[in-house]
Amino acid sequence: MSSLNFYHSVTLDLVKCKGCTNCIKGCPTEAIRVRGGKAHIMQDKCIDCGECIRICPNHAKYAVTDGLEKLKSYKFTVALPAPSLYAQFKEGTSREAVNAALHAIGFDEVYEVPLAAEEVTVAIREYLKRNHDVRPLISSSCPAVLRLIRVRFPGLIKNIVPVKAPVEIAGKRAKEEISSVYGIKPEETGAFFISPCPAKVTSVKQPIGTPRSHVDGVLSISGIYGELMRNLGRSGFESIFEKSSGIGIGWGRSGGENIAIGIGSHLAVDGIHNCIDVLEEIELNKLSNIDYLELQACSGGCIGGALTVENRFVAKVKLIKLAEKLGTETRIDENSIVRDFEEGYYNFEKEINPTPSLKLDEDIAKAIRKMEILEKTLKELPGLDCGSCGCPNCRSLAEDIVQGRANETDCVFKLREKVRQLVAEVLDLSQKLPPTMEGQEGVRKSDPE
Ligand code: SF4
Ligand code: SF4
Repeated sequence: MSSLNFYHSVTLDLVKCKGCTNCIKGCPTEAIRVRGGKAHIMQDKCIDCGECIRICPNHAKYAVTDGLEKLKSYKFTVALPAPSLYAQFKEGTSREAVNAALHAIGFDEVYEVPLAAEEVTVAIREYLKRNHDVRPLISSSCPAVLRLIRVRFPGLIKNIVPVKAPVEIAGKRAKEEISSVYGIKPEETGAFFISPCPAKVTSVKQPIGTPRSHVDGVLSISGIYGELMRNLGRSGFESIFEKSSGIGIGWGRSGGENIAIGIGSHLAVDGIHNCIDVLEEIELNKLSNIDYLELQACSGGCIGGALTVENRFVAKVKLIKLAEKLGTETRIDENSIVRDFEEGYYNFEKEINPTPSLKLDEDIAKAIRKMEILEKTLKELPGLDCGSCGCPNCRSLAEDIVQGRANETDCVFKLREKVRQLVAEVLDLSQKLPPTMEGQEGVRKSDPE
């Protein structure tokens, strides 16, 4: 396995895990194995998509996030609520009420990530207008998709639009404005994302496209939901920041980003397995007639994130209604965003590198040799993809065998074959006569000595 350091939000509770193998087939990157009656997540393959959190019937997978106590580490704190947060409460709950509840549970300020999404919308539009070499361009907003591309489709890294995700821009803007209004240094302000999914937790702890995140912590929507509910209805909070319009709020569901950008031909795909299908098509040079591809790992988009509480279909309706109510008149100054875009404000600051988890070996000659052994091993396996070996399919067992992580006899069919062979050998031995008796008349091979 690679020795690279990976941070992961998605974690296994060994005590709760029953080794039932339900999760191994649902994992889009084949990152889970069950060994010794317990699941094991392969760090270099996991993309923190959260599928296994949804699948596990024993609730053995969970996301590690920050807690409200971390707010105490900062002189000033700002909440960065994801658009999907506003779709988690009963219909009619105003955005102001949710922001006031965030203030009541301990945040000094609230900077809406949907407002930053409106800035990013303009930046992406500009990028699309000025760059025509690569098509389709893929949205950079879903970190699980970015990690998926690094792990399984490294050839498509060039298709990722090199514009920072809204949460990063929200953290940056919030700190700049707090500094100019209150004179508080950016490093004294703690910016906390209120996240619908574990991939966004990971993207803050181990950012992609930037050396350091402007976000200091991540709280899950589900983790603070109870506190927020208890504080809904509080009033008296006035933020210094602008409010988002329906354009930014729409980013919380599949298709919302494309509607906001509104130029060129575009496609919105949600659900990690659908994203994989589409990425495979792009690898085959299909879909080059599409300008922009919005890919979101969660079904329905961020409203379907593993750390939300509301049913994603209900949340979608609520978000659409809220976006309609807020309208499309944005409060951001598009001309100044275009100027910032030209000065590189939204650009990735760091190249995205492939994650070498699929390489069989760093040494090309050894990798080729291992691939040959893998193919040969695979041919000898039954091809049933039954999962009883603890791997998601026969190919991943073959890979594990080649990499020294598993044995051929982990396959029940190969084990049975081996036992049959051993039984045949034992039977054969049981027929054997000592050399002194061999050839004597009247002594049958099966007679006791
Ligand atoms: S689904 Fe996976 S994590 Fe959950 S109990 Fe079964 S093997 Fe363990
Ligand atoms: S979070 Fe996603 S990639 Fe990671 S182990 Fe779970 S299902 Fe697999």
